[in-house]
Amino acid sequence: MARTQALSLMYHDVVDGREHQGSGFPSSDAAIYKVEPLLFAAHMRAIAQAVSEKPSSVFALDQVERRNSVFLTFDDGGVSAYSRVVDLLDSLGWVGHFFVTTGCIGHKSFMSRQQIRELVRRGHVVGSHSHTHPLMMANCSPEELRTEWQSSVDILSEIIGAPVKVASVPGGYYSKQVAETASLAGIEVLFNSEPTTAIHRVGQCLVLGRYGIQQTTSAGVAASLAAGYGVSRIGQGVLWNLKKSLKCIGGEHYLTVRRMVIEKIRAARCDRE
Ligand SMILES: [Zn+2]
Repeated sequence: MARTQALSLMYHDVVDGREHQGSGFPSSDAAIYKVEPLLFAAHMRAIAQAVSEKPSSVFALDQVERRNSVFLTFDDGGVSAYSRVVDLLDSLGWVGHFFVTTGCIGHKSFMSRQQIRELVRRGHVVGSHSHTHPLMMANCSPEELRTEWQSSVDILSEIIGAPVKVASVPGGYYSKQVAETASLAGIEVLFNSEPTTAIHRVGQCLVLGRYGIQQTTSAGVAASLAAGYGVSRIGQGVLWNLKKSLKCIGGEHYLTVRRMVIEKIRAARCDRE
């Protein structure tokens, strides 16, 4: 019986606070989502105590209804996925989903092709996080969207020697067209950043929300999210809807501020180091 809901957590890099540029994108904006190694280990211990089933592969989604399962996801393709995260997941017997910005593969602070292959060999799921990580993906033209997904899927499929069927949306800027073009590139499961357990279908693609983890997220909050306790999830939902409202109310001003932030981040992108 197919599930209609899924609980997914969105992590990024796991790095020492003083060395936040050691994995993933180097900007201070990106650092907000990077978790210290000791805190990450505490998160995993707390989640292990809180959930009744091990975090599993999203490809078990259609096989059996398991309301209590959790999907752990890691965005960007920073090297800490290989150096800090995967050993801990393996020690627990858990499966992680690692979403790679293919334009950054092999660059300083990002995983190499060999490290990506090693994640797959160890039973984890590797997917696309676009090719160039546009932060306002929903504002890309249809042609740009198709190129972002298709080139990323082609590169990653060649590296892992298998079709790539899962992806996550960079920057959390989602639209139906983002999912439609992902579906055209062969993506069957797409994670965005909307804090919801609801699943919906766009074309051939299932779209799943995620609850975001930041550097200040406590192990208790991560565990309560994973366990499906409503309070933490409602809190994230309120913040998310507030951000959505600001985008509407702020109009051009919001977009101007957004553009300034994006330019700042682009200036520090992997391919300019
Ligand atoms: Zn990202």
